[in-house]
Amino acid sequence: MDSLVKGIRVEQVGGPEVMKIASLGPLVPGPGQALVALEAAGVNPVDTYIRAGTYTIDPALPYTPGLEGAGTVLEIGDGVSHISAGQRIYIGARPLTGTYAEQCLCSAQDLLPLPDALSTEEGAALFITYATAYRALVQLGRAKPGQRVLIRGASGGVGTAAAQWARWLGLDAVGTAGTTKGAELVRQQGLQTVLDHHAPDFDAQAMAATGEQGYDIILEMAAHLNLDSDLDLVARGGSVMVVGNRGELTINPRKMMGKESVVRGVMLFAMGAAERLEFAAAVEASARAGVLRPVIGRRFVLKDAPQAHRAVMEPGAYGKIVLTTGG
Ligand code: NAP
Repeated sequence: MDSLVKGIRVEQVGGPEVMKIASLGPLVPGPGQALVALEAAGVNPVDTYIRAGTYTIDPALPYTPGLEGAGTVLEIGDGVSHISAGQRIYIGARPLTGTYAEQCLCSAQDLLPLPDALSTEEGAALFITYATAYRALVQLGRAKPGQRVLIRGASGGVGTAAAQWARWLGLDAVGTAGTTKGAELVRQQGLQTVLDHHAPDFDAQAMAATGEQGYDIILEMAAHLNLDSDLDLVARGGSVMVVGNRGELTINPRKMMGKESVVRGVMLFAMGAAERLEFAAAVEASARAGVLRPVIGRRFVLKDAPQAHRAVMEPGAYGKIVLTTGG
């Protein structure tokens, strides 16, 4: 493929307006690589941190944002035998070039077959959120059927994914949302109890929902606000999984001692190759069973990436935002 590719280019980190549509490439797959024709890219909060220059990893400028997407394999490099051109895939690890574009380059080993039950747009909204939720619940949290789980921030990307995994795994899950619409969405994912995370008596409501036993696992999307309260809500021997955090707060570590509870950080990109294959198998089985289905709350076309970045940081989350390459 030697034609130029349309995509977003960022010359300088900064506000959403630094994302400009441009001609990129051409992109040519080297040994072990694959060129993917993208139909859509998932938009995640981390994309905004990287664009703003506030994430732990600084992008080499200029760069194209986007860490996840789905489409079809266009071309493979030397030494690639397990995938072929024309195959429907989603990207299951950091791509080599950004996904806010019509095409991107990936390590061929990072491309995962897209389950037939999912549309390509749904595939674009799959990896970051479902793999994070799976890692937090299963690979690090060791969730078992029947355990009580609190998904604190269930209306957004990671939260809706976690709610669907909870259903698949037979967990007794309670979710939270900040709006009525978000709460309804969480109920639609199969959770019967959904609480308002802004309620002044939230802790009392959350404990009452467990018969005052507390939660075996808490998936926390806003640890900078909630971690001290999580230490009250976690059960004896339970775990607080820190998924999202945007600042500092004071906690009382004494709360962990009597209960021997654990606070554990979660980092999606620490997922190893074998863990990724396990995740892909769980995706395949749960999508086939009709349990896993990414919620696409909003769509933007590529050139409107700045609006998508503003939207993903607004309160009132509703599943995922995707950028589509048509337009
Ligand atoms: P998102 O789609 O924007 O959703 C944010 C969620 O947080 C929504 O459910 C939102 O609810 C909720 N929330 C807002 N205020 C809250 C509060 N006071 N208490 C509890 N929840 C609150 O984002 P996402 O994709 O789900 O990601 C969630 C967080 O995890 C982000 O900070 C993201 O950067 C991080 N993350 C981390 C990893 C990792 O590897 N550790 C991977 C992916 C994402 P309402 O809008 O309904 O109020």
